[in-house]
Amino acid sequence: MAKEKLECSFCGRNKPETNLLIAGLDAHICDRCIEQAHGIVIEESKDVSNESLSAELTLRKPQQIKAFLDEYIIGQDHTKKVMSVAVYNHYKRLLQKPTEDDIEIQKSNIIMVGQTGTGKTLMAKTIAKMLNVPLAIVDATVLTEAGYVGEDVESLLTKLLQAADYNLENAERGIVFIDEIDKIARKSDNPSITRDVSGEGVQQGLLKLLEGSIVNVPPKGGRKHPDQKFIEVNTENILFIAGGAFDGIERNVSKRLNMAAVGYKTSAKDDDDIDLDNLLQYITPRDLKDFGLIPEIIGRLPVLTHMNPLDKNTLRAILTEPKNAIIKQYQKLFEMDDIELNVTTGALDFIVTKAIEYKLGARGLRSLCEEILTDAMFDLPGGDKKKLSVTKAYAEGKLSKVKLKKLKAVS
Ligand code: ADP
Repeated sequence: MAKEKLECSFCGRNKPETNLLIAGLDAHICDRCIEQAHGIVIEESKDVSNESLSAELTLRKPQQIKAFLDEYIIGQDHTKKVMSVAVYNHYKRLLQKPTEDDIEIQKSNIIMVGQTGTGKTLMAKTIAKMLNVPLAIVDATVLTEAGYVGEDVESLLTKLLQAADYNLENAERGIVFIDEIDKIARKSDNPSITRDVSGEGVQQGLLKLLEGSIVNVPPKGGRKHPDQKFIEVNTENILFIAGGAFDGIERNVSKRLNMAAVGYKTSAKDDDDIDLDNLLQYITPRDLKDFGLIPEIIGRLPVLTHMNPLDKNTLRAILTEPKNAIIKQYQKLFEMDDIELNVTTGALDFIVTKAIEYKLGARGLRSLCEEILTDAMFDLPGGDKKKLSVTKAYAEGKLSKVKLKKLKAVS
């Protein structure tokens, strides 16, 4: 019997001309045709993902983005508005097709200034959730200038790659949240920073990431070393959101506003409308510069916004109103054991009062609830009691002074 001649059914190459020939039911395919076909698949899926992004964006105008944020975040209206516009414009830019008019829309990276626990991370998380893009949350304090002990700035992108399960395309349109950006402020302008390893060096390192360039990223993080394989990541379409408490920056603001000290007016002109309890709302890029951020970094974070301190009403609302409010989460947990949890208004007010008294902030609300409910979560499942009413007296009984002090120590 004559030996069957094997060739690629797509390009016709004979078996010896190929590196690999794979047999199907009635046909064969060579390695080159596989590669070409794979390329087509990737291109097609790119179109599809761009289309779905486009569909998502046409669905969500800035007002709808804000409405989504409203479901999860209480208050902070100004920042929500600013963020909605910035995110909308950023992703519009992503969809921009090259045109003849040469108008290139610049990146709208964002910087948020606000005390810790006011919802900066929550804001970044909620936006990533809405857009369904990967999010990396990185603490700027772990970054050091190349050559020092710590992490290279490229590790920000390693985290993003990890968040995207190493899908480069998804990572390249993800969000990086850089927390505690104020901790890499230049020392000389800010005597309160005790950490060394020149923050300015790290700021310089961050520049190329923020502006949009191709960066060699070690896929597993850590320090770069010569034999390592890198992944090339294009940061052009990555949205960077920086956040920081900038402790004491109110002094810079008030100085600029021509006041001697926070809460103490020296000049009568135009000051009457100034809200001395929340000077952050008047923050400008110049205040960031005076605090020790280098002008180039400030320039690459063009959208500046502030978070308001959380007052009693906001804390109270955080307990019960957001889509996944803390109390709703506990109710769900109890519900899984067929137990109905009810927390009275008196108990909720009590929790908020304690959070303020012990300066626990929004993060403390959760720890307080945990302390109050731990006994019940241990005792009730599997028992006969199917209803738990947490009253002020019940909450008080579970929160001794010692426990509160302990919470304060860890917050
Ligand atoms: P930051 O990043 O500013 O330090 P986070 O975003 O980590 O603060 O906030 C800590 C926690 O406090 C969040 O997980 C959230 O439960 C709660 N929280 C803070 N601010 C708000 C807010 N405005 N609305 C709803 N929850 C909030």
